[in-house]
Amino acid sequence: MSRIDLHCHSTASDGTLTPAALVRAGADAGLDVLAITDHDTTGGWEQAAAARPAGLTLVRGAELSCWWGEGSQGIALHLLAYLFDPGEPLLAAELARLRGDREQRAEKIVEKLRADGVPITWAEVQEYAAGGSVGRPHIAQALIRAGLVGTTTEAFASAWLGARYFVPKSDLDVFEAVRSVRDAGGVTVFAHPRATVRGRVVPDRLIVALAESGLFGLEADHEDHTPAERRHVRELAERLGLAVTGSSDFHGTHKTVELGAHTTAPEMYEKIVSAATGVPVLG
Ligand code: AMP
Ligand code: FE
Ligand code: FE
Ligand code: ZN
Repeated sequence: MSRIDLHCHSTASDGTLTPAALVRAGADAGLDVLAITDHDTTGGWEQAAAARPAGLTLVRGAELSCWWGEGSQGIALHLLAYLFDPGEPLLAAELARLRGDREQRAEKIVEKLRADGVPITWAEVQEYAAGGSVGRPHIAQALIRAGLVGTTTEAFASAWLGARYFVPKSDLDVFEAVRSVRDAGGVTVFAHPRATVRGRVVPDRLIVALAESGLFGLEADHEDHTPAERRHVRELAERLGLAVTGSSDFHGTHKTVELGAHTTAPEMYEKIVSAATGVPVLG
């Protein structure tokens, strides 16, 4: 029985383990397959592949920041993309744009905080991001250092990054994202599609439309889904003929979840690999 975790973050975005440390931790956690899925970047792929311990299969992926709907009525969503060609120009350009937008947005959040006298700096946040995709967890780190909150979760409360100091990003249209990843030879899985704890979730009719447009799967078993939400996602996947996955969404010490806390069935993993052009780095 293999243990397959298809959603993990490294320091290439907002995880706290380097890509090399992540693959070693995956092997130590008894995983057979680990996917590196940093936000809007493939920047950790090379290091992860080079450090991959024998016996661990590495799936190279990313988690794309997407958007559905018009303006402030829209809903942000995350698509996991697997086994695509990172050199495909259109997708690579989109990812670069998303990372640039993350920087501008994070700097705006820091300015907002500073205007209210919060003693953090953009240079400090950039230092925490260490050249990777900047995210709110890096700003949370500065708030913790300044002694204003105790944990990352507290920093996401509405008094801080959750609402008062929230600035939107300009994400990728979700249909365009599905198409771009397919054009680059990869497959897409909708990450935590029903996680109401994170805010508004999309209606099932969007998932039906995405399935018709080439979406490959849905992530059902995820820390942020209640048992009822997991069941709902599974049933929807079955009805639409989509693959279903489970994964930890590991972020190191930025979250409490452990590697392999949720896993994907081998037959679902095989389906994903068969549908993609890219190949895993085998164990
Ligand atoms: P961003 O990508 O900059 O919008 O920040 C979102 C990221 O922050 C997510 O990918 C999670 O890693 C993290 N995050 C979101 N909500 C929370 C929360 N309530 N507690 C801790 N981390 C969170
Ligand atoms: Fe994250
Ligand atoms: Fe996510
Ligand atoms: Zn994630």
